[in-house]
Amino acid sequence: MIQSHALRTETLLKQLTGSEEVRALFAPGRAVIGISEHAARVPQGQLILSFAVNLAARLFPVIQDLVVVVPPHIKTLARVPRWQSPMLDQHIEKLLSELNPPVGWAVTAPHSQLQDNIVWIGQPPEGVKSTIFVGSDGWYAFVSPDEPMKVNATNPIGAYTAACFAAAELWKGLLLPHKHLFKNVPLAPCKSTLAFSAYSYRLDLGLPNPPLPEPIDLRRLSFVGVGAGGGAAAFTLASLPKLQGILNLIEPDEVEPPNLDRYVFASENDAAQKLPKAVVAERLFDGIQGLIIRPFVMPFMEARPALTKADLEYVFAAVHSREARRELQFETPRVLWDAGATEDGEFRIWRLILGQSECMHCKHPIADDPEQRKAEQLTKLLGLTPDIWRRKIRDNEKFAEDEIMSIEQHRLKDAPFHLPKPAQRFGDWEAEQCGRLVLPDLDEEIPLPFAPVLAGVLIAGEVIKEHCFPDAVLDSYYWNTLLGHFMARNQPHRRNPRPNCSFCCDPVYLEQYKRFWNQ
Ligand SMILES: [Zn+2]
Repeated sequence: MIQSHALRTETLLKQLTGSEEVRALFAPGRAVIGISEHAARVPQGQLILSFAVNLAARLFPVIQDLVVVVPPHIKTLARVPRWQSPMLDQHIEKLLSELNPPVGWAVTAPHSQLQDNIVWIGQPPEGVKSTIFVGSDGWYAFVSPDEPMKVNATNPIGAYTAACFAAAELWKGLLLPHKHLFKNVPLAPCKSTLAFSAYSYRLDLGLPNPPLPEPIDLRRLSFVGVGAGGGAAAFTLASLPKLQGILNLIEPDEVEPPNLDRYVFASENDAAQKLPKAVVAERLFDGIQGLIIRPFVMPFMEARPALTKADLEYVFAAVHSREARRELQFETPRVLWDAGATEDGEFRIWRLILGQSECMHCKHPIADDPEQRKAEQLTKLLGLTPDIWRRKIRDNEKFAEDEIMSIEQHRLKDAPFHLPKPAQRFGDWEAEQCGRLVLPDLDEEIPLPFAPVLAGVLIAGEVIKEHCFPDAVLDSYYWNTLLGHFMARNQPHRRNPRPNCSFCCDPVYLEQYKRFWNQ
């Protein structure tokens, strides 16, 4: 089914290629994801397959026709969130039926008449060529153009990292014939076997690869923002069979159709019903005993009175605005995680410890804040106060009728932009104005769908390490790329506090941090 609304991937491709006809450009966009019978009987193989299909089905219009090759009569052994089914092939059918993507799809039993752009888990059938092989062993994710990769030891972090690599290879393979249109975007398909540890972010084999304990106690964890990154982290945690603790999911927004390209936790029906993202993410954990999920369908500051100090000990800032990030830092969490991604396919993760590493105010100083400049620019163009626009940007707030009337009175007759609709979210309105509103450069970049997802998957790994493998936690920043050459030399490294930071050089906040967490 081809939906009329454009996914954000399509908007991104129009921007990158300068072509309006991207659907025609990338047709027929064929991709195949397959799994051998042996790998399909291993829970880790099932997790890779399920997540790779989940990601690939969202890559329209680069992928327009997806074939999933699954041997029949194999029991689902892994815990796959939300779209569970007793048999593996039924699970994949259920997943695709409910996602109902614009991509045409089919689930088939193994055969050798397969087209190009194939990702394979395990040993492919005789005669299947031009394949990228993926696999995973515990925390390790493997990708290779040369030979089948190992599938072993259940660990959704490693499995989903491998699935993100798979999506990236399909993407690169389908874009490569149009390379001349992507002048400023790196496109480097995997040329030799890559073994990436999602435990240590290193590329050597033989590094520590500890099994996951059962159950995993998340203690009290708060996700502020349940979008691409927060949703992927929640999905990853929900793929663990046994969890304990309390998870707060704080997110005011609903699932919107254009964002389904990177919301691995959401389906077309969620968007049609405009369900709150926090409520949709809560369903991922159905059937897990021992973990309490508390969805808060509201901005962080509205949820704040209901949160205790303990709720703010471990916080994932999966928000999109700089101001929201700084706001969270005022709570001086013991550990504050952050994640980001770009349209070049870079993914970035942070683990911020006050006084030791940079803080959110070091990262996003309030002086010379592009959000503030953007708010002022919007006031000039459209009226309303900069404070209102800052709030709209920070909380992705809806437009009220009186605000729209005020904008209508303020705007010039020949203004090139459309008025917001009542109750429309700021971000959705802004996305519609693409190119019509010239504003200071801000978070205008549309990340590639699988890049923020990988960042979220790795943050789920950091949460687990924090409580189960404290010696292995990130200190304090790591990045790499899914489109360019994966950089073997990139290692996690400490980003120090910025000298004279207004926040983390202030003894009052350092004192608060020490007092809260007995440091
Ligand atoms: Zn700082």
